[in-house]
Amino acid sequence: MDSLAVRQRMVQKLAGQGVTDPLVLSAMGSIERHRFVDSGLVNQAYEDTSLPIGLGQTISKPGVVSRMIELLRNGATGPMGRVLEIGTGCGYQAAVLSRVATEVYSIERLKGLHDKARDNLRPLRLPNVHLLFGDGMAGYPKGGPYAGIISAAGGDALPQAWIDQLAVGGRLVAPVVHAGGQALLVVDKTAQGLRQSILEAVHFVPLKSGVA
Ligand code: SAH
Repeated sequence: MDSLAVRQRMVQKLAGQGVTDPLVLSAMGSIERHRFVDSGLVNQAYEDTSLPIGLGQTISKPGVVSRMIELLRNGATGPMGRVLEIGTGCGYQAAVLSRVATEVYSIERLKGLHDKARDNLRPLRLPNVHLLFGDGMAGYPKGGPYAGIISAAGGDALPQAWIDQLAVGGRLVAPVVHAGGQALLVVDKTAQGLRQSILEAVHFVPLKSGVA
């Protein structure tokens, strides 16, 4: 497939939806999403839809990935600092993050998906992506403090570990249970304390504890 042309169309649509961060748009244009889905789904890889990746989980919609990463970067001009991603899944968002941040720590609780992400990312040779197998609710203190923390799974409440591991001046973007559904939560950690805002409704898989 001529994936470059298809990706460019996807990027135009993302820009049309309001994504303006040039680094995010170029990352979305360069990472081949079709390499992260099963062969039977390749022809849907550049549609703005989530797709199954096995073990009951999904690869997030490009529209949501780009929106959340743009929020995470909070207007940074160059690459942002260290980022922690909770929920590696198939590794797609970790690959996109590798283009817009200096270091990416991505943690997954399902061994089968952690291994799948490793296989998917190997040919891309991204030296700044660090895949971790474990319960992301505990974060990953060794990689912190983080300029950004982004979760691809939504829980009832924000784990305190994430707040603790966020740098002062850093930003967290995560889906949380809100008003009977889920919404995007943005938390800025400032020298004066936390500033939180709830944005639009989203649909993510649940944040679960422990590993499997
Ligand atoms: N980032 C992926 C999306 C994966 S879906 C993408 O690029 O499309 C969200 C993932 O979060 C699932 O694989 C799920 O297993 C994982 N997850 C849920 N709770 C978790 C936890 N506590 N720690 C780590 N991963 C978790």
